[in-house]
Amino acid sequence: MITDGHNHTKHFSPDAGQSIEELVSEAKSKGFNRIGITEHYEIDYPEDGLNWMFDLNDYDRTFDQWHKEFSDFELLKGIEFGYQTHVAEEIDKTSMLIPFDVVLLSVHLFRGKDFYVERECYEMPAKDLHTEYISMMAEMCEKCDNFNVAAHYDYINRYTDKKDDFVTYDECPKEFDRFFEALISKEKALEINTKSIQKHREGGFSRCLPDAAILNRYREMGGKLITLGSDSHFPGTLAVSFNDAVEYLKSLGFTETVYFKDRKPYFESL
Ligand SMILES: [Zn+2]
Ligand SMILES: [Zn+2]
Repeated sequence: MITDGHNHTKHFSPDAGQSIEELVSEAKSKGFNRIGITEHYEIDYPEDGLNWMFDLNDYDRTFDQWHKEFSDFELLKGIEFGYQTHVAEEIDKTSMLIPFDVVLLSVHLFRGKDFYVERECYEMPAKDLHTEYISMMAEMCEKCDNFNVAAHYDYINRYTDKKDDFVTYDECPKEFDRFFEALISKEKALEINTKSIQKHREGGFSRCLPDAAILNRYREMGGKLITLGSDSHFPGTLAVSFNDAVEYLKSLGFTETVYFKDRKPYFESL
């Protein structure tokens, strides 16, 4: 079973609607014995009335309780930082304050705006939008050091209503190469976000699996660390589209994925 390394609970992520009990029970019923919990932590996020920065010590203590409560199940203590250029140093410092198993970095904003809420960025040509977004992913991996995974590189395309738009390597090869160069030289992992696959499928997009040219180029440049995450926020969505992602990776010649524990990679055969 491939570990689902990216999940949220309502205890610490303000946009999630599932309890740890619901999540663990679903994981067990789907045959998992380990998952990653990666709650949102957004430094200097645009004011929206929600609390995107939880108390790290409270999180640490809560995990001690969860480890006791679910002694027959492995919960990886993770966090998902939202990257912006001016908070890079703060992310690197914050990620060392308590012992995490895994640290994810993400880009949830485009030019300072949450494109889930404000969608004017989709008026730009898709190629320009995707190029600027992947350039941010590259910058994030260049500027930050204390992380393990670059999450959902394709998040920018989730909320467009243009069903033929899709993040592809050919749109911005230089930016992808910069992104992969930073990931590979720092031994960080590339996440395949299976919620993105599911969202594209549900939305009737003409494509939903990650662009093969992106994954082939990552491997060609020496990228070995691929991790899977469903980014589940609500009951019923853990490990969504996992089988599709696993079969797809195998068809492209990948043989293993990784999850992180105590910030070290552990390999799992596909
Ligand atoms: Zn995210
Ligand atoms: Zn997430």
